[in-house]
Amino acid sequence: MKCPNLLTSFFLLFSTSIFAQVQNPCGTPPVKSKWLKQYQQNPSNYRSGADTTLYLPMTIHLVGSNSGTGYFPSDLMFESFCNLNADFANSNIQFFFEDVNYIANSNWQDHSTVLIGTEMMNANNVTNTLNSYIVANAAGSAGYNLPHADGVALSINSIGSGAHTWAHEIGHNFSIQHPFLGWEGTNYNYSVPTPTEVYYDYTYFQDTLILDTLIIDTAFVELMDRSNCTFAADGFCDTPPDYISNRWQCKPDSQSIILQKDPNGVDFHSDGTNFMSYAFNVCQGRFSTEQNMAMRAFVYDQKPNILYNQNPIRDTILASPSPLTPIQMEEVPFDQVVLSWAPAQYATHYILQVNRLASFPANQMVVNTIVTDTFYQAPTLLNNWTHYWRLLPFNPGYTCAGFSEVESFMTTTPPPSNLSNIEGLGAWGIYPSLAKRNGSMRLEIVAKTSMETQFSIFNLAGQTLLQLPISLKGGRFEEQISLENFQTGLYIAVLQTKEGVEYRKLLIE
Ligand SMILES: [Zn+2]
Repeated sequence: MKCPNLLTSFFLLFSTSIFAQVQNPCGTPPVKSKWLKQYQQNPSNYRSGADTTLYLPMTIHLVGSNSGTGYFPSDLMFESFCNLNADFANSNIQFFFEDVNYIANSNWQDHSTVLIGTEMMNANNVTNTLNSYIVANAAGSAGYNLPHADGVALSINSIGSGAHTWAHEIGHNFSIQHPFLGWEGTNYNYSVPTPTEVYYDYTYFQDTLILDTLIIDTAFVELMDRSNCTFAADGFCDTPPDYISNRWQCKPDSQSIILQKDPNGVDFHSDGTNFMSYAFNVCQGRFSTEQNMAMRAFVYDQKPNILYNQNPIRDTILASPSPLTPIQMEEVPFDQVVLSWAPAQYATHYILQVNRLASFPANQMVVNTIVTDTFYQAPTLLNNWTHYWRLLPFNPGYTCAGFSEVESFMTTTPPPSNLSNIEGLGAWGIYPSLAKRNGSMRLEIVAKTSMETQFSIFNLAGQTLLQLPISLKGGRFEEQISLENFQTGLYIAVLQTKEGVEYRKLLIE
């Protein structure tokens, strides 16, 4: 259907009083982009390929203070990313993360206007990816999308477990609008006759940022008989009328408690299932079919540059990584702690956390990092203290695995004799240094990196009695070595690497 000349723009002088900030469910006031208006005139002209899953890269920017505090925790971020993919499963759109970018900037972390958000996005957006910023305060809103900066900002308290704010804002990023388009900032009143048109301003939410200009547009109020659904409100006919523009509670059937009346006098309740409504999270659970088609068409038509990888690693990670060392309250020199674990299948990355308490409170966290290896050399830790550690495995397209079991170790003062001066080695030793004839000894090596070594035992005449090549992977290496056929006496144990050679005494009695 062709819309008559119903969308008129006014250009007025900027006035700050109009933009008093309130705590908003969404800071993306209305804007129906030129693209969406054209699309809705003839959706069948656009490719949407509903049967093909689209894989889209996302750069996640975690924004903290100047001193690097207050970041949204990475494990909760990946849980939220998992929820985002669940919310988009029916759209046949899935996201994989391209990178996690930590930004230390207090002004951006807690920003009061979208103009500061614009500056943040212009300075940090990664091209050919979607860009999401997780901040402490997204201009007084749960989140917003900025078409002219092409980024989404989310407040940390709005994207936890069970929240759909991220899906809502990505919906905006893919051009779709609130089903109550035009009512933003208005308190609907049942006792006042419902108008046939409403006005909205989108000064800061247009495709191109024009400062000092107030831009107002007109929207037809959607009718219950759907006679104007192709151009009224959000322009989708499978999102029924909705005039409520503040956070609202729903009945068990997900319909609004608030009763509304359309311009023809027909009573109705709003549908709270749609992610683009302002219903509480618990009411929401879907995008409509027409919204899905529009979002997919938008990606194909307007963002073909983000379709560069349609086969990202996304295999489901079923098993946790297994901590290898140190475990079960093992004693470890406090300045030589190297953690190692057996990999989890399909994991390409791990969140590694070391904490001073088993409950992992944020203020007792001593290591919280993302690693791609299966070992990690910790910084110098507090001595004589029990530490706890755990791992969360993930890959770019699958971030839904939880943490591994928690393991523990105790920091101690290292025996000076076992410290190594060889670069890449922490310490090594043989236990016991006084061994029994026909018994065995244990070789222990703590390596900071992967390296090739050779362990040998010589007698005092210089004859080699044992040679053992060892590929160290980083972490603690242990091997039991038989001393069968060794005579009583003094021997020299030698560890050789490219970087040097060190000796230990071995006495057999
Ligand atoms: Zn919104």
